[in-house]
Amino acid sequence: MIEKVLIANRGEIALRIIRACKELGIATVAIYSQADADSLHVSLADEAYCIGPHQSSKSYLSIPAIISVALTSGADAIHPGYGFMAERADFVDICDEHHIKFIGPSAAAMRAMGDKASARKTMIESGVPVTPGTGLVDNIDEIREFAKKVGYPVIIKATAGGGGKGMRIVNREEELEDAFNLCRQEAQNAFANPEVYCEKYLINPRHIEVQILADSFGNVVHLGERDCSIQRRHQKLLEEAPSPAITEDIRQKMGQAAINAAKAINYEGAGTLEFLLDETDPDNKKWYFMEMNTRVQVEHCVSEMISGVDIVKEQIRVASGQRLSVTQDDIVLRGHAIECRINAEDPSRDFMPFAGKIEGYIAPGGFGVRIDSHAYTGYTIPPYYDSMVGKLICWGVNREDARKRALRALDEYIITGIKTTIPFHKAILNNDVFISGQFNTSFIEKHFSKEELKNQ
Ligand code: ADP
Repeated sequence: MIEKVLIANRGEIALRIIRACKELGIATVAIYSQADADSLHVSLADEAYCIGPHQSSKSYLSIPAIISVALTSGADAIHPGYGFMAERADFVDICDEHHIKFIGPSAAAMRAMGDKASARKTMIESGVPVTPGTGLVDNIDEIREFAKKVGYPVIIKATAGGGGKGMRIVNREEELEDAFNLCRQEAQNAFANPEVYCEKYLINPRHIEVQILADSFGNVVHLGERDCSIQRRHQKLLEEAPSPAITEDIRQKMGQAAINAAKAINYEGAGTLEFLLDETDPDNKKWYFMEMNTRVQVEHCVSEMISGVDIVKEQIRVASGQRLSVTQDDIVLRGHAIECRINAEDPSRDFMPFAGKIEGYIAPGGFGVRIDSHAYTGYTIPPYYDSMVGKLICWGVNREDARKRALRALDEYIITGIKTTIPFHKAILNNDVFISGQFNTSFIEKHFSKEELKNQ
């Protein structure tokens, strides 16, 4: 049994994990950088240790610092959250060497799925449709040939990419060379790995992802899908479950494909398989695997709200060597949930992160409203990390009920002293196309002009 968990993260996800541990009767150890001394995860954990200066490379990404705290505090497991150490197979190896349980998949499963090119290979082998594409390419001729075959546009992707970074869309052959070189360069700088591959770029697909949970006894379940098509610059802004575009038939097939893939690599823990849904022919919707995230995701909460399954607790159960607490038959999806990512950003300055002091903070409440946030009155957002200050997740008996509740809650949500994306979320939720459910990944670009975005 796991008795003490070190949370190798910060912000709202650190709180999310601490809460799950507390409810399970597990002691918690927080780590923090000097810039996060006033952070809520520090005060809510049973123990907290400063592990370095504000730079992530010297704190939240410092393996020696994290492992030292785990050993000295007697933590028997580490939960990585998302980002930072969550998808680093070398970190899993080091945890194993120190007999500290990494709460997540094995290093081997992570390697099979952790980078985009290997994940595609694994999926092709398990018979799942993937977006038409190449394997890793180191010379441009191969991409040129592929693009000629499938037609432009294509997208060049860093195999190690994430968070919307390390991708270049290529609309015509003349752009290919620059895009290829830039993408490799960016990938080297951001992910220390220049390897890229190329995919057909689908025009206006929907981003649909399936949440799975797996234990070490070979049990794998899926919790249905999330629709994450509302994005700005390939970064998710608002997510919902279920997707307004998914029929029961596709849900079952996608869910089964996700389960098969997880079984094929002996996956353990929580994971997400991302797909693109092509609705060019609405009577014959096609879907393709895009990548797998081998960790808990920001948007996991919408699946929790409609399934009643606590994903983080299941991660911890599985890591303790227990079986999943639910079978596929136990999982009944009920109602609808919408999540708004509230970022400290200034829309009038191209969504520049807005670090600073929160002068006033009042969170909404009431039936069906959930806030996962580390913000509070007087908290100063440090400029060194991501700009998300919290997530508002609203449940409703159906999509319209959830949408209206989210609008009501956003009206109640008061954050002063900084700029946030609250007004932007209201505009999205009030948009007729959003209301109709007939949107895709180009929604923001298509329905919000640069001027409108500035005025949010
Ligand atoms: P990241 O790992 O950085 O999040 P993803 O591979 O998940 O990157 O892609 C992020 C988003 O980029 C997708 O949700 C989608 O909007 C867009 N995208 C990625 N690949 C394609 C593609 N082949 N065709 C069309 N859009 C794509």
